Amino acid sequence: MKRKNIVAVVGRPNVGKSTLFNAVAGKNISIVEDTPGVTRDRIYQDVEWLNYNFTLVDTGGIEPDTNDTILAQMRDQAEIAIETADVIIFMCDVKQGLTDADSQVADMLRKSRKPVVLCVNKVDSFKRDSMDVYEFYNLGIGEPFPISAANKQGIGDLLEEVTKNFTASDADEEEDDSIRVAVIGKPNVGKSSIINRLCGENRLIVSDVAGTTRDAIDTEVKYNGKKYTFIDTAGLRRKNKVKEKLEEYMILRTVTAVERADVAVIVINADEGVTEQDAKIAGIAHDRGKGVIIAVNKWDLIEKDNKTVNEFTKDVRTTLSFMPYAEIIFISAETGQRLVKLYDMIDAVSENHAMRVATGVLNEIMMQAVVMQQPPSDKGKMLKLYYITQAAVKPPTFVIFVNDKKLMHFSYTRYIENQIRASFGFKGTPLKFIIRERNNDKTTKK
Ligand code: GDP
Ligand code: GDP
Repeated sequence: MKRKNIVAVVGRPNVGKSTLFNAVAGKNISIVEDTPGVTRDRIYQDVEWLNYNFTLVDTGGIEPDTNDTILAQMRDQAEIAIETADVIIFMCDVKQGLTDADSQVADMLRKSRKPVVLCVNKVDSFKRDSMDVYEFYNLGIGEPFPISAANKQGIGDLLEEVTKNFTASDADEEEDDSIRVAVIGKPNVGKSSIINRLCGENRLIVSDVAGTTRDAIDTEVKYNGKKYTFIDTAGLRRKNKVKEKLEEYMILRTVTAVERADVAVIVINADEGVTEQDAKIAGIAHDRGKGVIIAVNKWDLIEKDNKTVNEFTKDVRTTLSFMPYAEIIFISAETGQRLVKLYDMIDAVSENHAMRVATGVLNEIMMQAVVMQQPPSDKGKMLKLYYITQAAVKPPTFVIFVNDKKLMHFSYTRYIENQIRASFGFKGTPLKFIIRERNNDKTTKK
């Protein structure tokens, strides 16, 4: 499993963190599509640079306590970066020079032994400012990379250095044959209770996974002869209660956990109903193409009649309309209701997420679909679908070759998706479609 690296930018206010963030997101990079109906956090962004895919985090978006001193805020932000990121960009400002706060945060970062790339911003003229860059060697965290975020200069070199520190893919996770599950959700929805219940006596090891870049605690469990890894999320660790209340921190922890998982169990509190914040959390799993189960927990607290399940399901489907494929289950970590079924569902969703369909069968389905519903046309030109093949799993990704990409409306792709789902289900997993143009002479072009 290939996991996206997480890169966090740390630095004093006004050094230019968000300017860099925007420059990176806006320039060489295609921003991953927004999920409709989900408010995006400005704090992280999935980016693509050259052949690298990573998640960029602006820790400046985290405001721990506005009454705190700048140094205290920076410490909190640095701590969060150390905890969640694979590589940290530490940003200073050549105009303000080296400050005491910079030195103290640099010490913290150095001690963490996380890869840190030092960047000195506002070097708008290298000729004029280069001498001033040298003093940043004094921080003792390596060579400073001069950039001008505003003028988009030096960013390529900086990112190149950053990507040198990437773990290609965590070898230990590669070899891991267990089903990797992230249990995510707002605070107090019952994440830890669910994991405790699911694990029970089946728990194999509870330890820091040695050698991983991440400071995470995974719980491994054997159940019915299968191995599961429950990935730590904010709810599991009560190390720093104050920080956990921060929404941005919770979001970052969720991103990190989901990135490492195959299946995300999104926990919703039945007693509260489904909320916008739940949608935001669900959007993280959706964007990352994970298998998804929505677990409505604390079901024991609800007074039910024969309509309750349907009504609740409708609410969930409406608020989380961007993931119609998600499975829904009503559980209680308190009474243990349907937790065995949750295990079955995790198995099924994980299988669907990794399912491969033979090309021959796919093409049969597509041709049949085309016969049943004529493809759209524009100004006399009709969409032709030549060929479909599954290019990847986790999530299942299909490439459709057509005569003209512009004619392939979203609704027709959705129609093909529905035909594939009608045959294979693919319950609980998103499906990805890539539309490619192919000339009549059968050469492919982009
Ligand atoms: P943040 O608080 O670290 O996110 O800093 P911002 O990105 O908001 O930038 C703070 C100020 O520095 C803004 O007025 C920016 O326009 C300015 N700034 C950012 N990058 C550069 C740069 O490369 N050169 C110059 N001269 N100004 C910059
Ligand atoms: P987390 O912050 O999401 O990990 O939530 P916890 O697992 O710590 O649970 C928060 C509170 O909800 C605790 O007091 C739990 O005892 C309670 N709780 C969790 N699951 C259930 C449930 O299914 N039913 C009821 N009634 N309470 C629950």
